[in-house]
Amino acid sequence: MNRDLDVEVTVVGAGPVGLVLAAELALAGVSVLVLERRDAPDPAMKAQSVNVPTAEALDRRGLLPAAEAIQRETLRRVGPFGGPSADGVLRFTGHFAGMPLDPGLVDWSDPDLAAHTAVEGARMVPQQRLEALLAEHAVRLGATVRRGVEVTALQDTGDGVLVGTTAGPLRTGRLVGCDGGHSAVRRLAGIAFPGTDPEITGYQAVVDIADPEKLADGWSWSPRGAYRYGPQPGRVATVEFDGGPADRSAPVTLDDVQASLRRVSGTDVTLTALRATPTRWTDNTRQAEVYRAGRVFLAGDAAHVHPPFGGQGLNLGVGDAMNLGWTLAAVVRGRAREALLDTYDAERRPVGAWILDRTRAQTGLLRGDPKSAALREVVAGLLGTRDGTTYAVKAISGVTQRVDLPGDHPLTGRHVPDLRLSDGSRLADHAHDGGFLLLDRTPEGAFAASAAGRVRVVRDDGTGVMGLLVRPDGVVAWASDTTDPAGLEASLGRWAGEGR
Ligand SMILES: Cc1cc2nc3c(=O)[nH]c(=O)nc-3n(C[C@H](O)[C@H](O)[C@H](O)COP(=O)(O)OP(=O)(O)OC[C@H]3O[C@@H](n4cnc5c(N)ncnc54)[C@H](O)[C@@H]3O)c2cc1C
Repeated sequence: MNRDLDVEVTVVGAGPVGLVLAAELALAGVSVLVLERRDAPDPAMKAQSVNVPTAEALDRRGLLPAAEAIQRETLRRVGPFGGPSADGVLRFTGHFAGMPLDPGLVDWSDPDLAAHTAVEGARMVPQQRLEALLAEHAVRLGATVRRGVEVTALQDTGDGVLVGTTAGPLRTGRLVGCDGGHSAVRRLAGIAFPGTDPEITGYQAVVDIADPEKLADGWSWSPRGAYRYGPQPGRVATVEFDGGPADRSAPVTLDDVQASLRRVSGTDVTLTALRATPTRWTDNTRQAEVYRAGRVFLAGDAAHVHPPFGGQGLNLGVGDAMNLGWTLAAVVRGRAREALLDTYDAERRPVGAWILDRTRAQTGLLRGDPKSAALREVVAGLLGTRDGTTYAVKAISGVTQRVDLPGDHPLTGRHVPDLRLSDGSRLADHAHDGGFLLLDRTPEGAFAASAAGRVRVVRDDGTGVMGLLVRPDGVVAWASDTTDPAGLEASLGRWAGEGR
């Protein structure tokens, strides 16, 4: 490490995204400091579940058993969230604009879904439990997390970043803002945040209700907006088309939730107590103009905000962190040239833009006017079909996300599928150290020969895809169905070979 630096990378924010990034950097041998202004983790109710790529990222780092234990405990506490599919397995499917996606209708044999089933038992992981798991993981790997320290200033000096904090200044090689939707890092770095203004105010809470019979189960619509009651007792969510809240930072009270619920349900339902810290949100939908400015980067909500429809924000941010983690580590440790860092913005901003538009579409469908109601009928009809529901579940679960990479194999640029190897292990079991993986199924080890000493090689005599080069973020960089190594050398050079 440069002797003038206090730390190689400083991550601002110990939310889920900052913690994943810190863990990935520490795993790759980078010195990393996380600064978090809160003294204790945020108790507010946010994400209740994770998508397939997030669960698979946990799996590749050896955290699958812990995540499965959280799901089992959560299911015991709140009851089933998804529902059984035709094969009787409990599946998590979610909803699109409040229209439930029936697990019994989904074609689970669809190749995209069937390739990613190993993490089925680790999807219902509430955000607070996930953050606790990630914090422990990051610290175990060597990251330092300092709470009660707020970042207030920064200056990119070309060879480092001077950071002003409430605990004094520090000098870091790189700075990553994982500091949420109101990101100070984004503002201090002068990065624009264009997008669409809020139309709605939403609340999510778990409450005691004096007269629950006044509420209908599931989602209900009215000209003012919509509400959801369930799936567990006392859990309510409201969506009101009121132009957004006047004061977004005011604490949420029981009265706020009750008043909103009364307006959208058209009843005089009475709430008697809050069971958990409630959340207020809007459909403010924005994306940072760039994810990187010199030595400063943005990830997670700092780079993009959107309404929580379909449960995408945390997952999108974890994807950012997995992508930035290994590329930043490779550059900081001198294993790759600076240009590798440009791939972060190029790969992650299109995924973010796609998610933002999916949530905008849901705001449009939730409106209470007759035209939106008619559109909802049409979409509900499509989602009521096997193909429609399967399409929506694939999109929401994240299995169809892809990065535009050279190569024409269908797996290139996709998240690596679950692969059970002939020795009984799974490919994910070989990814705990966070490096590249080369799966070589050629009888004579043809691929392994060209990769020797550059990436970890996993030999297998199973059938199916013959060779795979998997990046540390789980994205397939190269794949082959034959023993022909064409393209492997170029892919290794591009991703894993520079500077070695
Ligand atoms: C009601 C609701 C439901 C949701 N449901 C889902 C869901 O089902 N699935 C899903 O994927 N997503 C969901 N989300 C979105 C998800 O909660 C966010 O996308 C996620 O928290 C973003 O993580 P983050 O680490 O980027 O930011 P945050 O979680 O906001 O963390 C940022 C951290 O930075 C700290 N910080 C801020 N400024 C500074 C500073 N200047 N100095 C130091 N520290 C600072 C903050 O204190 C905070 O701890 C939901 C959100 C809401 C509101």
